[in-house]
Formats: sequence, structure tokens, C-alpha cells
Amino acid sequence: MTLQRLGNKTMCAFVLLASMLLFASSAFAAAPKYVFYFIGDGMGASQRQAAQYFYKIQTQNPEAKLVMNSFPVSALVTSHSDNTLITDSGAGGTALATGFKTTNGAIAKLPDGTDLKTIAEAAHDAGYAVGLATSTRITHATPAAFSAHNMSRSNENEMAIDQLGTGFEYFAGGGFRHFVAKNNAAGLKSKRKDDRDLIAEFKAKGYTTFVGNNARDAFRAYKPKKGDKVLAPLAYSVLGMEIDRINSSEKKNAMPSIAELTTKGIEVLEAQKKPFFFMVEGGRIDWAAHCNDATGTIYDTLALDAAVAEALAFYKKHPEETLIVVAADHETGGMAMGISLDSKGYFLKLNELFKVKASIEDILAYVYPDMVEEYPKVAERHAAYLKYVGEYFGLTDLTPREKEQLESAMTIEDRNQNLPAAEQINYGYAYTPTMIAVAHLVSERARISWTSYVHTSTVTALSAIGNQSAKFGGFKDNTEVAKTMADVMGVKLSSFKTTPSKALLGNTTGPNEKYSKIPYGQERTK
Ligand SMILES: [Zn+2]
Repeated sequence: MTLQRLGNKTMCAFVLLASMLLFASSAFAAAPKYVFYFIGDGMGASQRQAAQYFYKIQTQNPEAKLVMNSFPVSALVTSHSDNTLITDSGAGGTALATGFKTTNGAIAKLPDGTDLKTIAEAAHDAGYAVGLATSTRITHATPAAFSAHNMSRSNENEMAIDQLGTGFEYFAGGGFRHFVAKNNAAGLKSKRKDDRDLIAEFKAKGYTTFVGNNARDAFRAYKPKKGDKVLAPLAYSVLGMEIDRINSSEKKNAMPSIAELTTKGIEVLEAQKKPFFFMVEGGRIDWAAHCNDATGTIYDTLALDAAVAEALAFYKKHPEETLIVVAADHETGGMAMGISLDSKGYFLKLNELFKVKASIEDILAYVYPDMVEEYPKVAERHAAYLKYVGEYFGLTDLTPREKEQLESAMTIEDRNQNLPAAEQINYGYAYTPTMIAVAHLVSERARISWTSYVHTSTVTALSAIGNQSAKFGGFKDNTEVAKTMADVMGVKLSSFKTTPSKALLGNTTGPNEKYSKIPYGQERTK
């Protein structure tokens, strides 16, 4: 009898233990306590791969890999929006943040204007501390898609007010212009149309604020205490591009990198003494790719990778409790690795990119226009520009065709000076002929080519490591990334029934459906 009872008891204990193990390892696995969600804006597969090849040359180590490329789980992700197969960052960010497709330009709303719960909001409701960091503006499309609701991504003043209402613990990036009051005492330029001083309002809610270039050293030195919240819009608009940051003559005073924003964010979020969710956007990969700046694109991809390395260091201290996902909202520029005009194009020459010392958009865009004043005589101006692009973009030993391309770009730009804006010849987002000529010549020398000044529909790569990361693998749609993340975290997104994207059946409509005034493949030469 005694034996029989003992046997039963042992059996019971065994069954209990077995079911507990099953419980822990299957559908009911413990949610990750720390979640990092990296988004490379415009970081397509080519951007990642070019950055990795560049990195091997840079480190002279054939084994060198991007940190994000070392993760065990990977996926390919589609990004079409509700109204077109080519998403913008508003609809792309919305899908990654809420699990729903929307119209290009919309932020965390369905096409009919209904608000969508973002994963950051859902995490906050569930007791996670929340951080958002970006190298663009805090109110720009991607961070906004996690923290604001608006039918137009350009309503950044309104979305800054939404962000005030979230109670999130950490906001860092650029764009103080949407937070500071008109005519503020500090003399900071504002874009606000109302009389609100959002910096004061954030302070009143207990935030420590770091505003503008002058606050960056204080931001760097800041040591958060338990419960401290931070708002840090460190620049008027976006933060500088990585290539310019590392080549800045004021190196020690250069703007914090996205890796530094990540490290500080981890400190602030850890100080909350609770689980956290942290979205970090490498936002300027996209900006560089829009103007076909190969080197800028690569450096900003590496900058995001350095931020991922900070998260990985954290993961190594908390491997069971941490999940890191590195995704992208879409590809930008149609970046291709390889150009051939004949049968002899089987090589890339990324070494050419090491000669480049400045970005196209933040630096080169202003060089020729400044020279118009400095060198009133056309021949002197053209010579000065050729000297400049030789020195900063490696464009020396020009072939006759290269020289002609640069000359004709300068001639068109000279003519633009005297034309009304509507008649000027520019490319993409008003990119000048001189900047595009240089971007394309540098790319061509490296054998990188571009199909677009906007986004493309090619799949992006996703990587993941840590708690339940295996669930992110496969060929996925961007909406599934958000849904999977909500699922593993045990938080609730919106549950509306929606119809599939109309664009999938060829019905493209909406704000971005217009033809470029520049015919495909034709840069003007006269
Ligand atoms: Zn873009």
C-alpha cells in the first residue's frame, strides 16, 4: 500500500515536472523582458551586402561581418502598402509598428482614418518602458509610426503633441523645431504654428530634456536615475550623416552617433527597473540612397550596425530575456551591385568609395551653389568644382566622358540660377545636377548602379537573435513582423478585419502615383 502510494506520488511529480517543462518551452514560453527593434530605413539587401563587403575591405579581414548579419535567424520581408506596391516610410513604419497596411503617407492609421494600436503603445500598456531613437527627426515617419497617429506624415507638429501624450520613457534624435515654442528665449528656430512650448510640457511631465547642438555634451554625460524620462531632440532637423560625422573636423564635438543614442537609451530604460521595448531607426540610410550616394548609404548602414552591436552586448548579459530584431521598412534607390555596358562587367570596385570624404546631400549639395558667389567667372568656378570633387570624392584622372558629364551638369546648374524654380532641371527631391553627376560618377566607378530616386518594392532582409527569435524566420510580409513581435511579447495590437492591399491586384492609387518629369534613364546633358 505504502509502496503503491509512493509510486503514484512519484508518477504525479514526474507528470507535473514534464508538463511544466512543456509549458515553459512551447506556446507559453516566457515573453522577452527586453526587446530591441532596429529599423534600417531604406536598408535593402544590396545596402546591407555592400556595407558588409566595404567593411571587410575597411578592416582588411575577409571574415568580418556586420553584427546584424551574424544573427542566427533571418527572413525576407515584403513591404507593399495598401495603395501601392512601393511603400513610403509612413505606411512601411505603420506596418512594422501595428501589423496593418495603410495608404502611403499615413501614420499608424488605417486608410479610413481609424487609429491603430502601435506595438510601442501596447508594450507600454503592458508595463514595458519604451524608448524610440532615430538619426532623423523624432517626429519623422518611422518613430512617429510607433508613437503618433496622423493621416499625413508631414504633420510633424501635431505628432509631437501625440508623442507628449504617450508617456514613453526615452525619445532621442533630431527635430527640435517641432517641440520648441515660437520665439523661444533660447533663440532656437521653431516650426510650430501654435503657441505651445512642448519642451516645457515634457518637462512638466517629469522629462529631462536635451535640446539642440549645445545640449549634446550634457546628453553624453547624463547618468539617468531610477524613473528618469528623457526627451532629446539634438538638432533642428535630422542628425548628420555618418560619413560627415566621422570626417568632421570637430570630431570630439560631433553629434552623437546612433550607437550613442542606443547606449544612452539602454541606460535610461534599464533605470526604469522594468521590462523595456526599444525601437532604433537608422534613418539616414534612406536619405543617402534617395540621392544615390553609395558611400553615404554604406556608412549609415555601418552606423546602424554599430548600434546593433550595443544591443548585442546587452543581449550577452541577458541572453534568455532579450530579443533583438533588425528589420527594414523598404529598399531605397534600387541600389544594384554591378554595372555592365558590355560583356566585361564581372567586378565591383568598392575601393573607389574609400576616396570619398563627404556626403552628397548634406555637404556636396551646397558646394556648387556657394561657388557661384565665390567664383563669378564660369571657367574659374568650374575648375574649382573639379578640384573639389577630386579632393573629396576621389574624382581625379577624369576620362573625357566623365569630364563632359561634370561640365554639362555645371552648365545646366549655371542656367538654373537664372530660371524660375519650375523651369529648373533637378532630379528626385530637387537634387541639383552637380550633386547627381558626382553621385553617379562615384557609383559608376565602384560599379554600383541605381534605378530610382525614391523607394523600390524589392524584399528586405531581417535578422533576429534571442528569446523566441526563431519565430521571425522565413519569407514574410512586414505586417507579420509586428504581429509576431506582439505575439512573443504577449501584448495586444488592434484586431480590425481589413481587406488585402488593393495594390496586390494591380490597383495602384494615391498620393504618390505620378510620373517623374525626368524620363527614365535620362539625365539631361544639355
Ligand atoms: Zn525614403
